[in-house]
Amino acid sequence: MRQERKLIMLPGPTNVPDRVMLAMMKPMINHRGPEFAAMLGSIAEGLKYVFETKDEVYVLTSSGTGAVECAISNIIDTGDKVIVPTFGYFSERLKETVARHGGKPIEVPVEWGEAPTAELIEKAIKQEKKVKLIAVVNNETSTGVTVRDLPKIAEVAKRNDALLMADSISILGGDYLPVDKWGVDLCVTGSQKCLACPPGLAMVFASKRAWEVIDKKATKPPYYFDLSSIRDHWLRKETPCTPAISLYYALDESLKMIREEGLEKRFQRSAQCAKAFYDGFEAIGLKPYPAENVRSNTVVTVKLPSGVDVSKVREIMKERYNVIITGGLGKLRDLILRIGCMGIISEAEVLTTINALENTLADLNHPVKIGSGVEAARKVFR
Ligand code: PLP
Repeated sequence: MRQERKLIMLPGPTNVPDRVMLAMMKPMINHRGPEFAAMLGSIAEGLKYVFETKDEVYVLTSSGTGAVECAISNIIDTGDKVIVPTFGYFSERLKETVARHGGKPIEVPVEWGEAPTAELIEKAIKQEKKVKLIAVVNNETSTGVTVRDLPKIAEVAKRNDALLMADSISILGGDYLPVDKWGVDLCVTGSQKCLACPPGLAMVFASKRAWEVIDKKATKPPYYFDLSSIRDHWLRKETPCTPAISLYYALDESLKMIREEGLEKRFQRSAQCAKAFYDGFEAIGLKPYPAENVRSNTVVTVKLPSGVDVSKVREIMKERYNVIITGGLGKLRDLILRIGCMGIISEAEVLTTINALENTLADLNHPVKIGSGVEAARKVFR
């Protein structure tokens, strides 16, 4: 009999633990009442733990893009210079977001599959005068690349009197990102990725340095994403507009689960699963897409051999093996597979996915030694 629930191995949304799903069954409450305030207090503590900060992290009822838009629109005034390294689909979008809010993006192009370095950013900032912000996609979900230089880029920002914003939507909660220690000024994420929640909530962290700039901004930010108003309400344990209460229940539960596991253990689990994926791919003759030193632990990507159709691979994996993965974005659409390695990822999901992939390739008459990928991955866990 077909299993109704499929294994969601997407780079978000990801598999959500039953505990988190069940939390959403709680009754509706007044979002201006004491029950909601108590829950917001608990969420605030959980977010401080995950972002590793003493400052506040605000929750928005929106997808991740809303959090990016919120951070940018609360910092940028018309004509402000923003350095944006572009190395994939989401960093291109970030550049466009800066331009839409009147900023002047200074693009630092980097080969897709590689990551921007602190040296490259420093060179770009030295060529420009008065850069207000460096905006970096922390984990390029379209290529499976992590910017490992983020703490050094934060130092570059500080040395040059600029702020650093990280779009950490596909990494926060899945890999190291202590925002206070590293000196990240604005950091955004979404609920549906490494936090293992359903989609629909986004989070924005702003440092003290960021608040000094936000408080001095010349023009008003958008009404819904006015971070000062969000902060004023947050301090009273409220939100300016009606929040997605059921999703807040889910977020509170998922943050509790993260604290129970501990960040370090969670990061190690994800890193081990990512290594198992990469070793498994290589054993079946597939090459991971990113350069080795910048491979992500939360989104893994792999090149498909020429002649193998991405959509056929995805269809067979879904229909015959019950595993949902996705293909590339933009210019990588027909060239790579992308797999989420986030949230509740464990040995079981990794082995199931690699098994499905090697069988699918065999079904498509691609020469592959069945079992070799699973065996290579298995070794990582022993
Ligand atoms: N930025 C990055 C790095 C992402 O991975 C995504 C989504 O995958 C987004 C932005 C957009 O987030 P959302 O689709 O939740 O609006």
